Amino acid sequence: MAGAPRNTKQKQAVYEALQRLGHPTATEVYESVRAVHPGVSRGTVFRVLGGFAASGQVRRLTLADSDARFDATLAPHAHGRCRICGRVCDIFLPDYAAVAAGAICGGFHVEGWDVEFTGLCKDCNEEQMRANANEE
Ligand SMILES: [Zn+2]
Ligand SMILES: [Zn+2]
Repeated sequence: MAGAPRNTKQKQAVYEALQRLGHPTATEVYESVRAVHPGVSRGTVFRVLGGFAASGQVRRLTLADSDARFDATLAPHAHGRCRICGRVCDIFLPDYAAVAAGAICGGFHVEGWDVEFTGLCKDCNEEQMRANANEE
């Protein structure tokens, strides 16, 4: 099949962009893939991302105040989101794996999770402390 190798290459490019970018939106993935493969269409990238999410290869995140983001890290974890710059970091809690395995909360069967901590990333926090210091 003539189309298969190209298709596989695009899928690989999308997955690599996801890993490189951390928690990108679909648009950010598209822009990153396009920089390397100028011929790729937005529709293709969005379709590939949707396929990854549907097959469980990546997680689709619904964070507050943000378009859907995608995460290639499948190990159970929560997220911290900076309320100023929107940066997203991974937070691994000791009980998370136990919760996901149904070992907590009377055998509650977990099908998905979206735990979000909001606050300030290191840069924005330092910026704010500088700003506060100047005001005094
Ligand atoms: Zn920030
Ligand atoms: Zn994550």
